[in-house]
Amino acid sequence: MGTIERDVVIIGAGPSGLTAARDLTKAGHSVAVVEARDRVGGRTHTDIIDGAMFEVGGQWVSPDQTELIGLLGELGLGTFSRYREGESVYIGPAGEPVRYTGEMFPVGDHTREEMERLIALLDRLVAEAGPEEPWNHPDARALDTISFHHWLRQQSDDEEACNNIGLFIAGGMLTKPAHAFSTLQAILMAATAGSFSNLVDEDFILDKRVIGGMQSVSERMAEELGEDVILASPVRTLRRNGPEGRDGVTVVSDTVTVHARYAVVAVPPNLYSRISYDPPLPRRQHQMHQHQSLGLVIKIHAVYATPFWREDGLSGTGFSAGSIVQEIYDNSNHEDPRGTLVGFVSDEKADAMFELTESERRARILESIAGFLGPQALEPEVYYESDWASEEWTRGAYASSYDLGGLHRYGRDQRTPVGPIHWSCSDIAAEGYQHVDGAVRMGRRTAAAIHEALASGRQPAGSAKEA
Ligand SMILES: Cc1cc2nc3c(=O)[nH]c(=O)nc-3n(C[C@H](O)[C@H](O)[C@H](O)COP(=O)(O)OP(=O)(O)OC[C@H]3O[C@@H](n4cnc5c(N)ncnc54)[C@H](O)[C@@H]3O)c2cc1C
Repeated sequence: MGTIERDVVIIGAGPSGLTAARDLTKAGHSVAVVEARDRVGGRTHTDIIDGAMFEVGGQWVSPDQTELIGLLGELGLGTFSRYREGESVYIGPAGEPVRYTGEMFPVGDHTREEMERLIALLDRLVAEAGPEEPWNHPDARALDTISFHHWLRQQSDDEEACNNIGLFIAGGMLTKPAHAFSTLQAILMAATAGSFSNLVDEDFILDKRVIGGMQSVSERMAEELGEDVILASPVRTLRRNGPEGRDGVTVVSDTVTVHARYAVVAVPPNLYSRISYDPPLPRRQHQMHQHQSLGLVIKIHAVYATPFWREDGLSGTGFSAGSIVQEIYDNSNHEDPRGTLVGFVSDEKADAMFELTESERRARILESIAGFLGPQALEPEVYYESDWASEEWTRGAYASSYDLGGLHRYGRDQRTPVGPIHWSCSDIAAEGYQHVDGAVRMGRRTAAAIHEALASGRQPAGSAKEA
């Protein structure tokens, strides 16, 4: 393809990069989006497997995700609600399935009181910290240097309560063991969803899906951008030209070289170092990026001739901190008579599952799902495991978080540009962190900052930190 010139070059055609490109184009700037994969959408991907349509990556939309909801409207995409009629199933330490309705698990009185107390305590901390700058909380250092696992046990002696509260953030969101991330990181996760109470309410967090699949958000934006989206072209080098990048950037990918005034790196932080920077990034970024990593989760899809659990009065929702599959939901497609379940196997349990052969793993996982819904769950017509950790251009799921102590130490610089290089992805978002909504918010925020700089003719800032 040779060499092209644009105002802005965007690396990565996930929802964040494409939103940035769309906004910049609307503001009158020329862009090129250079993508490693042969498709757009990044961690959102709709695929047909053995005749069944699966959302292999991100899919749910919650009511607070207003930037994404607005974008869906602009792109003409509709949504549908997750099926949630009937009773849910909880499996506690005794290992027996218990049916329940409402939000609170059917636990003993002491455990319930402890869970309610921990949720209230976390709601207070979340309201104090907020999503934008949690590192400025007066206790940020103390909260960031204790793991969520140990903090929960400092607050409560009820192991079942600690495991259940831990599950919402650990297995449920960051997909790392609760001993591997800090309490401040847990607070940030909840703050970006509005409150801890929102996060534990599956009817809120897992409210709606996009008709046609979440990847269509990216596909529609890419259609608008046309030939300015270049696929199957991993970016290898990002050069800052002139002193402190004042002469713009040069991006070298496998099929095209782009000269531009600004670059947006719209890839998750664990992949920043797949690009060579010339000159190298500043010390602060070199260090910070080594403390951000993706979690690990296997997203299980199982399709049955009918949603058999509904006839039994069950919603298809199930939770268990102790089971291999820690959460399941009815994930049947829009206007599809078949029944689809989705389940999640996270962090160390996923490690253990990947030690098994494919058929052993499938059998263990389906047995775990049958623990919630009965033996009919053992015989799906179609079974599929999303394995994002094996994807070269992602390497984990759902998104990245800091190791212990990293958030208060580096967080304040995670969105700071380096000269003409801006960073944009859901992993560094405030509201919508780890979600498509956060990717869209970061895309909008980054595009607005670059537009302002281009419109005012200002030189790229932020290079002082390179000293
Ligand atoms: C299994 C799973 C379930 C999820 N569930 C939900 C959910 O229900 N709801 C929700 O809102 N979110 C969910 N998410 C998270 C959501 O999908 C992500 O937050 C979102 O896709 C992030 O968008 P992004 O643009 O920031 O990054 P990405 O989507 O990761 O896009 C980055 C792009 O950059 C490309 N790239 C990487 N390196 C290079 C390079 N060197 N050169 C060129 N291109 C490069 C990648 O190929 C990719 O296309 C889920 C994610 C996963 C994996």
